[in-house]
Formats: sequence, structure tokens, C-alpha cells
Amino acid sequence: MRTVYVNGDYLPETDAKISIFDRGFLMADGVYEVTSVLDGKLIDFDGHVARLERSLAELEMASPVTSEDLLEIHRALVARNGIEEGMVYLQITRGAPADRDFVFPDPDETPSSLVVFTQNKPGLADNPAAKKGMRVISIDDMRWGRRDIKTVQLLYPSMGKMMAKKAGADDAWMVQDGFVTEGTSNNAYIVKGGKIITRARSNDILHGITRAAVLRFAAEAQMEVEERNFTIAEAREADEAFITSASTFVMPVVEIDGVKLGDGTPGRVAPRLREIYLEESRKAAI
Ligand code: PLP
Repeated sequence: MRTVYVNGDYLPETDAKISIFDRGFLMADGVYEVTSVLDGKLIDFDGHVARLERSLAELEMASPVTSEDLLEIHRALVARNGIEEGMVYLQITRGAPADRDFVFPDPDETPSSLVVFTQNKPGLADNPAAKKGMRVISIDDMRWGRRDIKTVQLLYPSMGKMMAKKAGADDAWMVQDGFVTEGTSNNAYIVKGGKIITRARSNDILHGITRAAVLRFAAEAQMEVEERNFTIAEAREADEAFITSASTFVMPVVEIDGVKLGDGTPGRVAPRLREIYLEESRKAAI
């Protein structure tokens, strides 16, 4: 059985409890991070903690622990659960006040809740899906306007995944005012004439930690990167497409709304970026 962390305690997962008044449960008043684990080490941990601190600050939510504590908790759970490849999920919510109320509770009276657990995913880096590529559909982006904050409001992305599944695809790319924002749980890219195109950072998308690393590695490898909006029509005409996220790293996209990109197999850029990302991230893992 998995050992998880809840508000200061390491517990068997079945003994871990959160109050029914927790604002994460009642109001999705919480933020989260997912850090991947390779070779038993954390990938891009500092980036995830920096984004967490930004999400908390934007929501005026206090962290119950320091970033040093977070590293210790992550490492303890990875060790206790014997994770070689997988993820660590972390969630902070605005805690459990005495009663349900829209007004934020006084943080001195209601401490934030912290939950951390591991997900064991052997073969995460060697995912066969990376060789085949994914199929995506496009859907309207109906999420709220602060997607740069990594909140636990994941109902619409979850519905998007179900729309994709029902359509026989693997995921959905969301579209706002005619332009692709991002995938349901990943950032979206196209490649045309060797140039990597991805939407620029704003409140419209999550500022992916994997995105930042991949764009840095692409620049270092002398690949051309253009941060700008693109449409689904442009994406269908692209040579290649791919997504990035902490749990999928770089994953080729080979079909959009039933239209195959190129010959319908992963091209050269996405598999190369995946290789570089995995290699460099393993080297920098802590
Ligand atoms: N965009 C959305 C909406 C996400 O949910 C995620 C990850 O969960 C990402 C992008 C990718 O972010 P990261 O690379 O930090 O995992």
C-alpha cells in the first residue's frame, strides 16, 4: 500500500483524510503540481516549486510549508514508495474553515491543507505512445480566464478528454477566438519548415515547466522557435505537431480532427526534442 503525506503526517493511503469542509473539495479552491520521477529522482523540481509559489501568490493563499520542506516530502515519498519512474502529485488548498462560506477564511485560523502522493508509472520514459504519436480533436476552450494559475478546477479539461475518447482520439486541443490555446493537460506545438510554433505565455495558458525546458533546449540545438498564436487550419497543414507536459515529456501528435499530419507518423523534430529533454532532465534531476 502507498504511503501518502497529509498535513504533516506520512500515512497509509487508506488512512489519509481531508475534512468535508475543505475548500478544495467544496470550491476547487486549491492549486497543484505534478513532478515526474526518473531514475528515482525529481525532474524540474525547482521549476514546479517556483510555479507553485506563483499560483499561491496569485490566489493569496499561504503555503503551509517551505520549499525545502516540499523537497524533503517529495524525496521521502519517492523513497518510501520505491518509485523509479512515475510522478509526485502535490495539492495545496485553502484549508477547512468551520463552515462553508464564499469569503476566504482568515489564514491564521484556517491553515492551508497539503496533500502529496506518488504515482508509480514504470516505463514512463519508454512510453510506446511516443513512437506511434497521438491523435487529437479540437474543442472550444470553455475554461476560466486565469489558466496561468494551476488550480484544481479540472472539470472542463476532464470533459475534454472524454470528448476525445468518445471521438476515438487521445486528447483534445482547445480553441479560443479561432486560435489554439493548449491541450487539456499539456502545451501544444506545431512544426512548419523546421520552425517550432507555440502560443506565447499569457493568462490564456498554463506556463508549462516542460515547455520552458523544451524551448530552452530547442534554442540551444539551434532550432528556430516562434511564440505566436496558430489556428487548427494551420496545424492541419503543419509538418509535425507535439505536446509537452511533466508526465508525457514531449509527445508527437500525428492527427488533428481526423487529418493526418505529413505521413501520419511522428516526424523528426518532436522525437529529437523528446530525446534531448529526457537526456538533459535526467542529468539535472535531483
Ligand atoms: N497546460 C495545462 C492545461 C496543463 O494542465 C499542463 C500540465 O498539467 C500543462 C500545460 C503542462 O505543464 P507542465 O509542463 O508544467 O506539466
